[in-house]
Amino acid sequence: MPHRSNAGAALLIMVAVLVIMGGCASPEELARRQGEAFVQTQQAAIGQTAESLRLTAEAAIKDAIPDVQLPQLPGQPGQPAASRPQFSRLPVASPEWYGGFGANDFARDNWRKYYTQLGGLHNGTDFGADVGTPVYAGLYGIYTGPSTDATKPGSVAISVGGFRVTFGHVVPDTNLKLNQEVSPDTLLGTVGDHPSGDHLHISIREGSRYHNALLFFEPGLINQSEWGGYTPPAGPLSIHSFIPMSTDKANYWGEKNIELLDLKGAP
Ligand SMILES: [Zn+2]
Repeated sequence: MPHRSNAGAALLIMVAVLVIMGGCASPEELARRQGEAFVQTQQAAIGQTAESLRLTAEAAIKDAIPDVQLPQLPGQPGQPAASRPQFSRLPVASPEWYGGFGANDFARDNWRKYYTQLGGLHNGTDFGADVGTPVYAGLYGIYTGPSTDATKPGSVAISVGGFRVTFGHVVPDTNLKLNQEVSPDTLLGTVGDHPSGDHLHISIREGSRYHNALLFFEPGLINQSEWGGYTPPAGPLSIHSFIPMSTDKANYWGEKNIELLDLKGAP
């Protein structure tokens, strides 16, 4: 049985080599090898724990916030009769930075100040722009006055079908008339002053939930990778399409029984 004898011979040679190698190693070298093996074992254990925690957290979030499919666009994008918002141009030219939707790092650090009714999550998308920068509608819709979703120093609400698009931290243009139709090039106002950095906040609300506004821009308008600013971490919420308004006082960041505040003032 040549295979068995060959295997046996190979095993003997391997053992001999190991014995010789072990015999040649100094006590320091043996200690170093043992140390390295110990560290590798510990690192593997830590990695497994972190991965299992991450998977558990992702599963919990997915259960709490089910994803949804957005309705299909009727006809051509950007037509006045659209039943959902569709941005065909950026509301501010050349935004300087981008603030992501949901669990971004600004929301993590400031949820007590701004996002307690939103489960600690950012309900919109921010576009960094200097005070005075013109703000255009970017889409077709109906001007319905100021919005309660973001008020300071002013705001503009545009109604599109069952959606309310809020242009937050905006000084409204004085020519706007209630219930007038707006088109992508309609001037809505200018970027106002904001303590956490001047920017335009856009949120898209449907009933009691906020959609990720980036999903309503035509392809090619948004290139997040070119902008700095606060962004969502890699994870399930960064790809979720909406967040619900919190009703159970639970918080994404892990604190319970938070105070519910009025939405006014949410960035
Ligand atoms: Zn914002």
